[in-house]
Order: sequence, then C-alpha cells, then structure tokens
Amino acid sequence: MMKLSELGEFALIDRIRAQVTPGAGVVRGIGDDAAQLEIPAGEQLLTSTDLLIETSHFDFTWTSPADLGHKAVAVNLSDIAAMGGTPRYLYLGLACPGSAEVEAIEAFMAGALAQTEAHGVTLVGGDTCRSPGPWVVSVTVEGTVAAGCAIGRDGARPGDVVVVSGVLGDSALALTQLLRGQQPPDSLARRHHRPEARVALGRALAESGSVTAMIDLSDGLASDLGHILEASQVGACLELESLPRSEPFAAAVQADPALLELALSGGEDYELLFTLAEAELPAILELGRRLKLSLTPIGRIHAGAPTLTLRDAVGNERLCQQQGFDHFSSPKAEVSDA
Ligand code: ADP
Ligand code: MG
Repeated sequence: MMKLSELGEFALIDRIRAQVTPGAGVVRGIGDDAAQLEIPAGEQLLTSTDLLIETSHFDFTWTSPADLGHKAVAVNLSDIAAMGGTPRYLYLGLACPGSAEVEAIEAFMAGALAQTEAHGVTLVGGDTCRSPGPWVVSVTVEGTVAAGCAIGRDGARPGDVVVVSGVLGDSALALTQLLRGQQPPDSLARRHHRPEARVALGRALAESGSVTAMIDLSDGLASDLGHILEASQVGACLELESLPRSEPFAAAVQADPALLELALSGGEDYELLFTLAEAELPAILELGRRLKLSLTPIGRIHAGAPTLTLRDAVGNERLCQQQGFDHFSSPKAEVSDA
C-alpha cells in the first residue's frame, strides 16, 4: 500500500482534480491561484467553514475514511441549508501525516465527492499539507440565496411555534453505544456516520417566506434552540412528550430511560429547527409531506428572558440548564466522533 509521502502533494491534487466534474457557475476551479465563480443575479453569497481534527472531532477507531469524507461535507451543507440557501461550491483543506495511506485518502475523497455530487456542489479548491501528527480536515462551502431571503437565528417572535424536522437523538445514541463497545443497529449507525443535510427542506422553508428563525442541530436541541433564544431575545417552552423519536431510539429508551436525555442534549442530528407564526403551520406541515420529511411542532416561543422551559407529560415544568459543548471550557474534551 502506498503512503502519502511516496505519492506527493501535487500528484494527490492531480488525482483529486481528475475526479471532479465542474458544475454550473465554475469559470475556473481547481488548478489556478484562486477559484473564479458565478453568483446568480439577485442572489447573496453564504459561506460557512468547519474544522475537524483527528481525536478531537473524529477517531478512525469508529469512523471509516469514507464516512469521514461524507460527514465533513454533509455538516457544511447543513449550515447552508439552515440559512435557506443552495450550496454550490466547496473547498477542502487537508493535512495528513506522510504515513497516511493513499487508499485511505482516496476513500475519504470518494465519500466527500459523493456528497458534493448528490447536492450539485463542485469542489473548486483547497489546500494540501503534511501534518506532523493528526489528520486535519477543513471544509468551506459557499451557497447562494435570493437577496434578503436568508433565515437567521434572530427572528423568532413571541407566539411562534417551534418545529423540528426528522427525529432526535439517533446520532448521539449510536455514539453512546459505540463508546460502550456495543454495535448500534444499522439505521442508528447510519444517522451517526452519514447524516443527511436537509438542503431541499431549508430552501423550501426560505421560499415559503413564513419561517422567522432557523438553525441546524449540531450541538443538540436544547443548546441549539438556546442560540435562537439568545439571538432573538425570547424564551421558549418545549413539550418533552412531543420530541420526535425513531423506533430504535424508543426501544433503547424503554430498556434504559436515562437515554431519553439524548433527544434533548445529544448532538449531530443535523435536522432543521425553526420557528414560525401558528397560522403558517398547516402550510408548512403540508410542505413537509410533499418533501416526505416529518415535521413536528415541539413547543412555543414566549416573550421574556432567553430561557428554555421543559414541560413533561403531566404538566410539570422545569428550567433547562443545558449548556452546549464548548471546546475550550468543557471539563472533558470528549471525542464527538466527526
Ligand atoms: P497555491 O500554491 O497557489 O496555494 P496549490 O499548489 O496549493 O496552490 O494548489 C493548486 C490548486 O489545487 C489550487 O487551485 C488549489 O485550490 C487546489 N487544491 C489544493 N489542494 C486541494 C484539495 N485538497 N482539494 C481541492 N483542491 C485543492
Ligand atoms: Mg496551497
């Protein structure tokens, strides 16, 4: 098996370039000093970037290079989806040790490029370096959105309904089982290793004009809803009974009720969480049916301090103290696995 140190930087870039079919809007992609790209008339540019460091964000004990490639791209597409945009262009920064196997890098690239192709996104540039130790992957995505139609975190209003797509907690449950040395059921493992960015949904929600605030769920429902509350300066109350769960998740909770917490605080679901006026809800639920994505109302926004209240099945309320994962201040720097 060939090592990266034998292949070399330029040969690797050539191999990457050979696998890319330039899509619409690419005047110059990989191979020049900068990418030269078109932005459709009347649209604004959305840019998002993510850094993934081996052992901090992913671990090859659990994650295959192909899954890592898929996930590194998918989580970036998810950020564009959360603004209501269309992802178009991708940049890939890659630092690997010289001892990395070319086969692993090719598998990583195959996972990444399958995601870009599935979403009509073109890899238009990047940077490639030798790392003194861990793999470091930096993905930047550019998307566009009709001028003035992007959905921020700051527009939630008192009286708005809080809605979430899909189901919650599957990814965190899969990770919990992996860390316990158990093999999660395939459907859960897939939710963890191969999340799907809700791009079509995000775009349709922006086009509807009725969504007031939106975010994608990367850190966990409580923490990410907290970002909307802070940015919008409003409070919210969630109905715990209404949090959407998958069958395997419900089965795991039946065996171990403490796992229910993962629907609220588990990260990496990459579902969309958004708010809208109650009168708009029927049309949006219909939109979900058309896209074959479940949408579930889970609570309501109210005026006041940006706090989150949780109400259980019998109406007892408690204040949620949930904090998001902070890379610098969290006591244990847990491996979150990509
Ligand atoms: P420069 O010296 O100007 O930074 P490089 O030799 O690093 O140029 O890169 C040459 C071309 O290959 C550039 O277009 C760059 O964007 C692209 N490129 C480098 N690494 C990657 C990568 N990992 N993925 C995609 N494109 C890359
Ligand atoms: Mg360079």
